[in-house]
Amino acid sequence: ADRLKDKVAIVTGAASGIGAATATLFAKEGAKVVVADINQQGGAQVVESIRSAGGIADFVRADVSKHADIRAMIEFAVKTYGGLDVLVNNAGLEITKNEVDTTEEEWDRVFDVNVKGVFLATKYAVPEMKKRGGGSIVNISSAYGIVASNGFAAYHASKAAVRHLTKATALAHIKEGIRANVICPGVIDTPMLQAAYKNAMDPVAMEEIFLRGQPIGRAGRPEELAYGCLFLASDESSFCVGADLSIDGGFVAQ
Ligand code: NAD
Repeated sequence: ADRLKDKVAIVTGAASGIGAATATLFAKEGAKVVVADINQQGGAQVVESIRSAGGIADFVRADVSKHADIRAMIEFAVKTYGGLDVLVNNAGLEITKNEVDTTEEEWDRVFDVNVKGVFLATKYAVPEMKKRGGGSIVNISSAYGIVASNGFAAYHASKAAVRHLTKATALAHIKEGIRANVICPGVIDTPMLQAAYKNAMDPVAMEEIFLRGQPIGRAGRPEELAYGCLFLASDESSFCVGADLSIDGGFVAQ
């Protein structure tokens, strides 16, 4: 239980799903965790459950698309825990619409959260990681950042952008001991997935594709993503630089 001993980690979008599982696992492995989200109630619950298991965590309300929120989030980690070693850019937003139906506002919101949020957090995390002699940035893209499908125009484009941004970050800062890698989750059973079913043009067909249409025959669990984040966050992945880690039950291998 010490794979992240004494590390300070920020996990964005940590009030729910993959982020909540990741924050919880990081705390179990000895990290001091900043649980960042726009969802105060969910975030507070995650913090409470980490603390009741003996872990260290605090909630920060941060909208990752807002410059001031990101600065405050990074500052909070540094002031409260003394520095920053790990950043997991997990907060994300999905709009289940094609190019014709997507409004300009929806497009901008998806890119502001999914792409600009990663840029801003990275921008302010890197100088703090430099002060510690290094760090690890883990960005959550999607299997749909590798392959595309019908009906998710802005989302898929944003997730492809995250993969490329991660590689640029990795190459820019490797000499400073800062590694950046990307995880591409397949279909994971979280509230986001449930919402995608509900909003789909044909919810039953969508559920069939997502669950039984996967090579492994089921959706993934948030914990199965958290273990990937743990590996990339820890020093065990010291030779991983700009890597894509697919955790998708065989989805992109098809
Ligand atoms: P989720 O909806 O359960 O959790 C996302 C969290 O992000 C929520 O707590 C939400 O409040 C938070 N959030 C949204 N906008 C935010 C903002 N502007 N600032 C801060 N927090 C914000 O979703 P999840 O399935 O756990 O998704 C986590 C990440 O994994 C996302 O980036 C998503 O795109 C990606 N992903 C999910 C799946 C899947 O099948 N569930 C597949 C591939 C990729």
